[in-house]
Amino acid sequence: YIPNNYIQPYSIYNEKMKIEYEQRSIALINLENAIRNEEFQIYYQPVVDAKTEKIISAEALIRWISPTHGIMLPGNFIPALEESGYITMLDEFVNRKVYEFLTERSRQNKKILPVAVNLSRMDLMDMNIMNSVLHEIQDSELPRNVFHYEITESAYAEITDPGMKFLEDLHDKGAVLLVDDFGSGISSLSTVQDYAFDVIKLDIGFIRKIGNSSRTENIIAALISLAHHLNMKVIAEGVETEEQIAFLRKHECDYFQGFYFFRPFPQEEFERMLDRMQEENE
Ligand code: C2E
Ligand code: MG
Ligand code: MG
Ligand code: MG
Repeated sequence: YIPNNYIQPYSIYNEKMKIEYEQRSIALINLENAIRNEEFQIYYQPVVDAKTEKIISAEALIRWISPTHGIMLPGNFIPALEESGYITMLDEFVNRKVYEFLTERSRQNKKILPVAVNLSRMDLMDMNIMNSVLHEIQDSELPRNVFHYEITESAYAEITDPGMKFLEDLHDKGAVLLVDDFGSGISSLSTVQDYAFDVIKLDIGFIRKIGNSSRTENIIAALISLAHHLNMKVIAEGVETEEQIAFLRKHECDYFQGFYFFRPFPQEEFERMLDRMQEENE
């Protein structure tokens, strides 16, 4: 169908627009089908405490199990979904799935951990997803601090009023806000200056240079100290080696996430992990 606001009285409806519109429709139909066919699955990657190495939370990372291409990483499909705006549909799905997962386990008196969901820059301009996320939290019987949201520094740099209001509402309701890929953009200082994020996630690009660049090492040490002075915690992303861990510990990084500890794994595995943690405590 063609939405009735699409052809406006004085708009020039040319062939190129028509083709673009049709392509977007195809993308939409495929995405809806893929969601309906359960081709999207949520993987989880734990975050561990730097001192105790205990798991404190996990990040939800989407995977597309394509019938023709197998397991597809977000880098292969998220850019196109962001371009077309359909990322908000996928992110609504991810939010709902994570919400249902936590709610269901909690109703069965099973252990849960906080789960961080990634929000796209497009989500911060879409009232539908913003309202549904706020309603979920508002109606939930779970402790509010199990809901974590990651916003990349570059998405934050482009934020407009409705997105800002949304983040403030989320924060007021007790959700935890993280700056993702911190330090990868050009706006790092204004990001932490303008808004009360709870946690910064040091970009993997920094972590990779530990041991190779003393300049980057000095920047990492300074960023951790900056975050702590602003009352924020620090997660190092993409931790892969003992050398990185030793350096980050020395500089009092709070949490680690990376292949050294865990690669992202399917939800069933996350459930088994949570069950084991529960048994060990009982
Ligand atoms: P991100 O949020 O910064 O997630 C971290 C990425 O680094 C993940 O890639 C993760 O698998 C990878 N990673 C974790 N530890 C290591 C490590 O030790 N070494 C290396 N080399 N990589 C590591 P993934 O899952 O491919 O996701 C890529 C990006 O896609 C994410 O970056 C995030 O921006 C986006 N993304 C993932 N899921 C979603 C989603 O549900 N919604 C939206 N809007 N974006 C998502
Ligand atoms: Mg993330
Ligand atoms: Mg990141
Ligand atoms: Mg990233």
